[in-house]
Amino acid sequence: MTEVVKNYINGKWVESKSKETSDVINPATGEVIAKTPMSTIEETNQAIEAAKQAFRRWRSTPTMTRARHLNRIRSAFEDHFEELSKILTTEQGKTLDEARGEYRRTIENIECATSIPSLQMGYNAEDIAAGIDEMVIKQPLGVFFCIAPFNFPGMVPTWFWPFAIGTGNTYIVKPSPQVPLSQVRQFEIIHELGLPKGVLNMVHGGAEVANALIESPDTIGVSFVGSTHVGKIVYKKAGEFGKRAQVQGGAKNFITVMPDADLKRTVPAIITSFYGCTGQRCLAGGVLLAVGDIYEPLKEKVVEASEELIVGNGLEEGVQMGPMASKHGMEHTLSLIESGIKEGAELLLDGRGIKVDGYPDGYFIGPTVFDKVKPDMKIATEEIFGPVIPIIHVKDLDEAIEIIDANRYGNASSVFTSSGKVARDYQYRVKAGNIGINIGVAAPIATFPFSGMKDSFLGDLHGQGQDAVDFFTENKVIITRWF
Ligand code: NAD
Repeated sequence: MTEVVKNYINGKWVESKSKETSDVINPATGEVIAKTPMSTIEETNQAIEAAKQAFRRWRSTPTMTRARHLNRIRSAFEDHFEELSKILTTEQGKTLDEARGEYRRTIENIECATSIPSLQMGYNAEDIAAGIDEMVIKQPLGVFFCIAPFNFPGMVPTWFWPFAIGTGNTYIVKPSPQVPLSQVRQFEIIHELGLPKGVLNMVHGGAEVANALIESPDTIGVSFVGSTHVGKIVYKKAGEFGKRAQVQGGAKNFITVMPDADLKRTVPAIITSFYGCTGQRCLAGGVLLAVGDIYEPLKEKVVEASEELIVGNGLEEGVQMGPMASKHGMEHTLSLIESGIKEGAELLLDGRGIKVDGYPDGYFIGPTVFDKVKPDMKIATEEIFGPVIPIIHVKDLDEAIEIIDANRYGNASSVFTSSGKVARDYQYRVKAGNIGINIGVAAPIATFPFSGMKDSFLGDLHGQGQDAVDFFTENKVIITRWF
């Protein structure tokens, strides 16, 4: 019988009593490989209670000791690097190299949080009046949690929990029910390392668990990563219940190629940007804006490179693009391809119906390129989250920026150019949280905030880096005079 994954509460593996489950499917083969329980409100509350109790001791555990725990986890993940990467590919579909890339980032996130003792945890001012000193100390608040998406099942929770527990809070992870196995294995590894019970917990499920976490009087704040539609529901509810919230939503990332771009180096970057993780990346290229004369040669080279991409089971050597992560995701992308055709875009390369030898039931879509795309078409405005490149020909940088500005999202945007002036103009004017200059996927490393603007982010403090430290702590001001 297919295994139903367990919750991890108060340092123990616990079976959910819920009869409701959802299937975890290997998207390359279509096989059911596990089941995720839709845990109950009672089980969610048990995790909150465990984290609340653990907070009493954990907050006064010396910061260096907390950092040492994180260091052990970092090092154990390094020891299990290949195994973790394989599990990720099996449940999510991305290629093994992409899974390794995700685990490199995962480990970096934990590594960055190990330096919390030396990050900004307060500041002082002497003699604000004669003989009076003032200081700010940053204190942890209690129980935090994250609601994670399906596309980076190994990494996304580590944008948050290492920083939360590093600053003295306790934590609950709610993985996406579509891909729980990466988190289960991570927690099995962590279980062996002596982290005090209740500091880190995991509850599986969907909206019901998420709501119970938000509504509980014993939780402090939520980090959500997922679609903007659900993110807005979470943000509103968090406000209603007085919770801190950081909500990272959907995206439509515009990649602008100027006439003076170095095409030889630009095209491979574009291929990675649009097709990396089969386009299911919140930082993936969403629309290619070809400026002026670069349009014809760029289009030709992009189609050529797209045709060469090897699609298959991500576990196999040499495969450059895996399947879509789910049937639902595949259908969503196919319906947007249909809409592009109906709205009059020209399909230069059609990835529908691609056959991958040995995997008749996999959720595959091949590289797809659209030309003659208009800025108001669905494929140019909505998040496709699949391997599709819509190309728009624009006359100059102003027209490109006008199109970018009109879009509701602002997660990332890149420009390819050899002009410093254009690059400076782009980073100054484009309203997106992560800007790439001759970089196709503008992914900030763990010491920098993972930014996002407009409908791609709701809240004020972002994930990662100093922003994360600030999100998980509150400032206390102390004014001192000694008689
Ligand atoms: P999703 O919104 O469907 O689900 C995200 C999480 O929300 C899941 O854990 C799900 O169980 C939970 N959820 C579903 N309904 C809920 C509800 N009513 N209340 C509370 N929680 C609920 O997103 P997804 O399909 O898993 O992920 C893909 C999306 O995530 C894309 O839009 C992508 O751009 C976005 N994403 C954004 C970033 C970023 O940093 N901005 C990073 C990764 C993914």
